[in-house]
Amino acid sequence: MNICKKCSSNNVTQANEIENYKYKNSNYNVLINYSLCNSCKREFLTKKQIIANEAIIREAKKKIDGLLNSDEIYSIRKKLDLTQIDASIIFGGGKNAFSKYERSEVTQSIAMDKLLRLASTDRYIFKKLLNLSKINCKFNYTPIKSVNEIMYSKVSYKWENTKFSISTDSHEVKDPLLQLVA
Ligand SMILES: [Zn+2]
Repeated sequence: MNICKKCSSNNVTQANEIENYKYKNSNYNVLINYSLCNSCKREFLTKKQIIANEAIIREAKKKIDGLLNSDEIYSIRKKLDLTQIDASIIFGGGKNAFSKYERSEVTQSIAMDKLLRLASTDRYIFKKLLNLSKINCKFNYTPIKSVNEIMYSKVSYKWENTKFSISTDSHEVKDPLLQLVA
C-alpha cells in the first residue's frame, strides 16, 4: 500500500487520466497512472507508476515511428524459439536487450527493428544469423562449412518448432534454403 509522504495517510487510491502529448508532429493520447491521497488530495507518482507510464509513452512513440511494439518483439522471439539470451547473442543489443525491449524499458534501434522483421519472415536470413552467431546445436542446425560438403546432402533444420530437411543439389548451393523440402 502507498503512503502519502505529505500527510502520512494510507488512504491512497490509484487513478488514471488520459493525457495528450505531441511527438514528431503527431498528437497521441495515453492513459497515465498516478496515486491520489484521499486525505490531503495530493496527487503523486510512485516509482512503479513512473516506470509504467514511461513504458506506455515509449510504446506510443514506437507506434508513431513505425517500430515493433514490445508484444510484437516477444512474439517474434517466441516464433523463433529463442530465449532472451539467445536473441541477444543472435541479434545483439547486449545481454539484457530483449528483457528491456519486451518490458518497453528501451526502444530498439531502427537497425534492430529491421533485423527482427527480416529474421521473422525469412528463414534464410535467420539461418544466416544463426550461422554467424555460432549457436547451432539447439536448433539442430548444421552449419555450412564448404560448398562441397552440402552438395547432394540432406540437412535437417528447425524452424518455428518444425523440423524439416533440405535437399541440396549442386545447382541449389547458392541458396539452399530456397529449395525447401518440408
Ligand atoms: Zn496526503
